[in-house]
Amino acid sequence: MVDPGHGGEDPGAIGAGGTHEKNITLDVAYKLVYALGAAGYNAILTRTDDYFVPIRERISIASRHRADMFISLHADAFQIPSARGASVYCLPGQRKPNFNVHSRAMAYSGCLLTSIKKVPSLRLHCHSVKYARFAVLRSPAIPSVLVEMAFLSNRDEEIQLRKKEYQNALVLAMLNGTKSFFRTTSLT
Ligand SMILES: [Zn+2]
Repeated sequence: MVDPGHGGEDPGAIGAGGTHEKNITLDVAYKLVYALGAAGYNAILTRTDDYFVPIRERISIASRHRADMFISLHADAFQIPSARGASVYCLPGQRKPNFNVHSRAMAYSGCLLTSIKKVPSLRLHCHSVKYARFAVLRSPAIPSVLVEMAFLSNRDEEIQLRKKEYQNALVLAMLNGTKSFFRTTSLT
């Protein structure tokens, strides 16, 4: 399940050049779904246009489709304009009964991080997986991760995020990370 962050009345972060996070996440999400589909995965979007979807509904959509994995796409913002690079998040450690869900989310996060490192045009903000209690990651049954693709608050990265080449590089990294996750992790 591919989740383009924000949408509709919720623009997400807004760059100095006027770029809305909700539009970047939707563009990249469409490309990622096509790339995953071409690679043989059944990939579905939580939203397909510029409209608002509450967090709980995003998780419900994933459950209704019995998604194996959930990836939420976002673009970061910070007060310090020089902050840059991509980050991969999952929930902090959980005890049983969610242990398997959590360990898969950690494994998927690690695969995504490794793949981002391998694409020369991409930068990482943090070289290890980050942990945060984001509401969208709280599906009890579906391993969920969140990718902050770059900083919209960074002028250079705002420009990059709008470019087809940069979006394609992000998609390639996430496609490769997804492939390596499913190659190495059993879902049974
Ligand atoms: Zn966001």
